[in-house]
Amino acid sequence: MSMDKHSLVGLLPQDMSSFMESVGEPLYRARQVTEWIYRKKVPSFDHMSTLPQSLRDALKKNFFLAQGKIVHTLTSHDGTVKYLVAFPDGQAVEAVSIPQGKRLTLCVSSQVGCAVGCPYCATGKAGFTRDLESQEIVEEVWMAQKANDQRIGNLVFMGMGEPLLNYTNLSRAILVLNHPQGMGIGTRHITVSTTGVPSKMVQLARDWEQVNLAVSLHAPDNDLRTELVPVSRAWPLREVMEAVDEVIGLTNRRMTVEYTLWNGINDLVSHAHALAALCRGRLLHVNLIPGNPGGGKRFRPSSLPRVLTFQGILREKGIPVTIRKERGRDIQAACGELYRTWTQAE
Ligand code: SF4
Repeated sequence: MSMDKHSLVGLLPQDMSSFMESVGEPLYRARQVTEWIYRKKVPSFDHMSTLPQSLRDALKKNFFLAQGKIVHTLTSHDGTVKYLVAFPDGQAVEAVSIPQGKRLTLCVSSQVGCAVGCPYCATGKAGFTRDLESQEIVEEVWMAQKANDQRIGNLVFMGMGEPLLNYTNLSRAILVLNHPQGMGIGTRHITVSTTGVPSKMVQLARDWEQVNLAVSLHAPDNDLRTELVPVSRAWPLREVMEAVDEVIGLTNRRMTVEYTLWNGINDLVSHAHALAALCRGRLLHVNLIPGNPGGGKRFRPSSLPRVLTFQGILREKGIPVTIRKERGRDIQAACGELYRTWTQAE
């Protein structure tokens, strides 16, 4: 492995084994270290009490425990917590923990900023800065879970960034997140939410058949979609739906369509009928997301009666549909708002 100093959190288990070999330590030490990190979540090397001092010194010399830091926390009255995780280069991303019974749903970011440029999204308005490294993605999850007692029930890549535009790091991060000597999160409990990057959707289905894929359509036709999800210029709706069909063919599992409802923009009765027609005959489930108040002047959240009418039309047409329960409205839980406030204050 490279001689650069890395974080231990997020290191692939085989890299930890290579390190043990390189310093003449038996391989079981690698497993001890990963247990200290992922099961016990120790705050420093000195807490790894089963390791000899010489090995702790070697680890200190070659690694950081973790390089990211939670620099800001907002807690909602409903228990949702938003974290701003900053890295040594001064960049930061958001992660959100949402308690659901005894388990946590964690929503995490894959990039600093985002190039997709959705006009109602604070992250999109801030533009793209850089990809997260795979280790930074794992650190984000590790830190958000460390701040909570509950186990992670679901992990969703629905925070800042388009995860499939950072595929290599995403896939490496999933390897560690899923690994029994890593975070141990089952792939069926991991969801990647994409605006639709067709070739990478198919690659994810091939590499990680059990990982859930959700595609954010937000519009039933290409013209409106190009306005709401500007990346559609590169990947038209037709190509996204072809990829959806290929993914379902590969996984034989139901996929989720995310559809955020904005008043008078994409929540008309005609849109509901067109969406139903698009979904008909496909193994899809539609998740309706009432827009959030931070969308700007043009983008106002649809009222509950409009959301229910939209849902009713899909139901009538036999499309499985749910409405996502809103959490953390009082803490700027919409993607990118805390990050934007923080960068503007810097
Ligand atoms: S909504 Fe998602 S894809 Fe669109 S700009 Fe925001 S972070 Fe990017």
